[in-house]
Amino acid sequence: MADFDRRTALKGGLTVSAVGLLGTATISAADAASGVAEPKIYGTAAWNARPPGGAIEVQNHKPTYIVVHHTVEPGNVTDYTLEHAFWASRSIQNFHMDTRGWIDTGQQFTNSRGGHITEGRHRSLEILRGGTQHVLGANVGNNNSTCIGIENEGLYSKEDVTPALWDSLVKLVAYIASQYDISPEFIKGHRDFNSTECPGTVLYNRLPELRTEVGKLLGTASPKVDLPEWPLLKPGDSGPRVRTAQELLRARGFAVPVDGLFGQSTKDAVAAVAARNGLERDTCGATAATDETGFLGSDVWPLIVGSGTDPRALKARLAG
Ligand SMILES: [Zn+2]
Repeated sequence: MADFDRRTALKGGLTVSAVGLLGTATISAADAASGVAEPKIYGTAAWNARPPGGAIEVQNHKPTYIVVHHTVEPGNVTDYTLEHAFWASRSIQNFHMDTRGWIDTGQQFTNSRGGHITEGRHRSLEILRGGTQHVLGANVGNNNSTCIGIENEGLYSKEDVTPALWDSLVKLVAYIASQYDISPEFIKGHRDFNSTECPGTVLYNRLPELRTEVGKLLGTASPKVDLPEWPLLKPGDSGPRVRTAQELLRARGFAVPVDGLFGQSTKDAVAAVAARNGLERDTCGATAATDETGFLGSDVWPLIVGSGTDPRALKARLAG
């Protein structure tokens, strides 16, 4: 509303000093970024998408977060052509519609290893250009109303993305941030919402760099980074953070050992917490090749933290 007021004021011919009276808080990061260019984005017609299997839901609000994913499949291919990017878009749509049973591609946008950007779910490009509404997708379990998602082709648990993919990711995220007035600290990884490996540890660890680069394109100073996120712990992990999780699980009545080893009983306990609380699994369609049962991440930690623990302090301790 503040942005609207300021723009109206500007159109009304008020001077810059009058704008200043409204306070600096009204001049958001994205205001300065109104000039971020739209990168080349190929619409669903370009890659010959199937029609959606149901009505696309357009919500009358902007998304809050821009969420980075990795597709896992078809792996880290070296075919960087546009034709391959189109093929991958069709392949993902088929998987989401035929196997996941969704009405259309889950994510709003897809980014190939060759740096080609395609529209995922129908209408995503048109609605993004409008800058005021949100196409409801299926890529961040329990959070789809607030998240606009980008699937990056490949598996980035150990390997890094291609320079071309990185370049197009920066440009796409900056454009989305500009269209919706989203500040760089609201650029997130899928694992910031769900207990998933996505977008891979290597790409996830580059998100601070992504925020900085997007901030530069938006014309903001160094972006504010919020508190550490909950860590992702997986079966087979060991160490003090696993021990902390086990202590919390024991306090919730689970008979797990407090040995710092993420074994079967710890995995079973985490899976039980997730199931009991209705946490969605397999939430971005990128995890076909991976069993993520019992992963302990962002959506599970708050459920096992007792009322006597300050979550912010615990987060900071786990990150340290
Ligand atoms: Zn994901």
